Amino acid sequence: MAPAVAVIGAQWGDEAKGKIVHFLSRNADLCVRFNGGPNAGHTVVDQYGEARLHQVPAGALHPHCLGVLAHGMVLDPWALWEELESLRTQGRPKPQIFLSERIHLILPSHRIREEREGAAAKLGTTRKGIGPAYMDRVARRGLRFLDLFNLEYLQEKLRAEHEAFGGFDPEKVLSDLLRFRDEFEKCAGDAQALISEAISHGKTVVFEGAQGTLLDVDFGTYPYVTSSPTTVHGIPWGTGVWPEFSAVVGVAKAYTTRVGAGPFPTEDHTELGKRLREAGREYGATTGRPRRCGWLDLVALRYAQRINGFTHLALTKLDVLSGFPEIRVAVAYRLGRRRVEDFPSTWELARVVPIYEVLPGWREDISGLRDFEKLPKEAKAYVRFVEEALGVPVSLIGTGREAEALIVREEFWS
Ligand code: GDP
Repeated sequence: MAPAVAVIGAQWGDEAKGKIVHFLSRNADLCVRFNGGPNAGHTVVDQYGEARLHQVPAGALHPHCLGVLAHGMVLDPWALWEELESLRTQGRPKPQIFLSERIHLILPSHRIREEREGAAAKLGTTRKGIGPAYMDRVARRGLRFLDLFNLEYLQEKLRAEHEAFGGFDPEKVLSDLLRFRDEFEKCAGDAQALISEAISHGKTVVFEGAQGTLLDVDFGTYPYVTSSPTTVHGIPWGTGVWPEFSAVVGVAKAYTTRVGAGPFPTEDHTELGKRLREAGREYGATTGRPRRCGWLDLVALRYAQRINGFTHLALTKLDVLSGFPEIRVAVAYRLGRRRVEDFPSTWELARVVPIYEVLPGWREDISGLRDFEKLPKEAKAYVRFVEEALGVPVSLIGTGREAEALIVREEFWS
């Protein structure tokens, strides 16, 4: 059985999945995005500089790896053009990409609708039109790549959107979409067939999750969630393929962040929270918004572990914790007089108070370290504390922004 590796955010997104996917795709044939759209912001820092990827799969930065945009995504053609152009101006080789012909397209009217419906303000969405595009998909009035070949359907869809919402030039949108169709026709098709054949021919496939488990439309802190499944279940949902995974890698930051509204029990409103934000450069890659920052939450991570069945954990941004005299980790919550061990409903989550265990910090700068044994003993103890609490090995540890600032504990990758 070929290696099929899933990479899933274990928190509220922004866990540095981009860097982990890029590393795990170094020998992969395919890297597949299966959910979300340009609301993702996956950053990879390599010899060409910083690539901010929104729709191009991070593995596709490797010239040998085909980036697949599967049908579970919603695709913004204009944003894709922009992204490919920004990669080109960095002097990178052109990424190879393949589009599912069933992928739904984000139209200018989807962004307009998101603003009008007030979702952006109420839920803290990224204003990229993601929610309305997914709504159209299930309401059976969406526009898929395949539909660009039915001129009558396409024109009628644009006419109806323009009549209902205005705010865009239908002639210009039509001509852009036809240009998009002609440009990408050669690299679009049945992605389900492509992925399942790759797997049956022994190729290596990495599935790149966007957002994180706690933003999953069903398992997350609803309604403060995104519009698609972000967990491992999103892979069959968004690709039509259910492989036997050789690894399900949960990506968690060494602390926690959240963007937008919704409960966040371990949020730190003191100077320490601000310090985490500055040290971790916690500003959104897609929106530039400051992220809310706080401590690692093992209640939430145990829940993510149950939902996804992680076989490995990648603990990223450990370097950001250097210099904190103490490090807090939530091991349970208190709700009134009750001790809570399981991740509760959104409404209870808003009322819980975390129960912290306090671990000693370390002073040494660990940036760029690649050898686990060279970590200060307190940092090693922190990693071991997390893996014991979750029963999953921490097999990758992030120690800096650059792609190579990564500790790979080979013993867990047999
Ligand atoms: P994603 O959406 O999960 O891919 O996360 P983002 O790319 O939005 O956030 C990760 C940010 O942290 C990016 O700016 C990365 O360059 C940076 N980053 C990734 N890994 C590390 C790490 O181990 N340490 C530090 N300090 N920064 C990292």
